[in-house]
Amino acid sequence: MGAETLIKSHKQFKKKYGKKYSSLFQKLVDEGQSPRTLFIACSDSRVVPNLITYTKPGDLFIARNIGNFVPPFDPGSEASATPAVIEYALSVLNVDNIILCGHTHCGACKSLYQDIPDDDIEMSNIKKWLRFGESAKEQALAFVGKKDKEKLYAATEKFNVIEQLKNLLSYPAVKRKVAEGKIFVQGWYYHLDNGELEYFDPVEHRFLPVDTVLSQLSEKDQQDIDDEQELLAAQ
Ligand SMILES: [Zn+2]
Repeated sequence: MGAETLIKSHKQFKKKYGKKYSSLFQKLVDEGQSPRTLFIACSDSRVVPNLITYTKPGDLFIARNIGNFVPPFDPGSEASATPAVIEYALSVLNVDNIILCGHTHCGACKSLYQDIPDDDIEMSNIKKWLRFGESAKEQALAFVGKKDKEKLYAATEKFNVIEQLKNLLSYPAVKRKVAEGKIFVQGWYYHLDNGELEYFDPVEHRFLPVDTVLSQLSEKDQQDIDDEQELLAAQ
């Protein structure tokens, strides 16, 4: 979809949603944003956070990057875009949920197995950035070997969710709020082909269908979901 089509699509957006959401847009300007969730996802065009969570403007504070990586906490690091989003979400917006969302057929995870030459200046930042996926690659190789490539890539995507969750916990504010029980952190694995969602269960140490977690949600979360559904149904 090129720029001209996007401009035309924007007109469609104004026509379809301008009136419907005008009071919400104004409310978000007047009162400011207060999203409850930081959502970290891959830049992949097929992973659309607001679409797959059926949410509206103001609901999600989003960090997207290649591979849904979370650089480990390091105040001296050059890779500070995603860490800055995490710090802002926790220290300014006071979110009480963090979702780290990986996905199937992730190009970043596959790229971990391809060599980018050191002198390829046009890919130099990608090469540097992909180092944040190395630990997932090592674990996937040790777990499934390299014989079956598709199996290896899928394992890398799942280990990547687990590893990035660990990196999240290296942030002082995340660590503190988790210890105080003030924040809910969860890893998701989204299936591009059918929209299915799994979550990582740290107790069973495996990915399970996300439906099974609903029973563990607090009453307030459940009420929020019910309210959202009613609101959307009424529109
Ligand atoms: Zn991806």
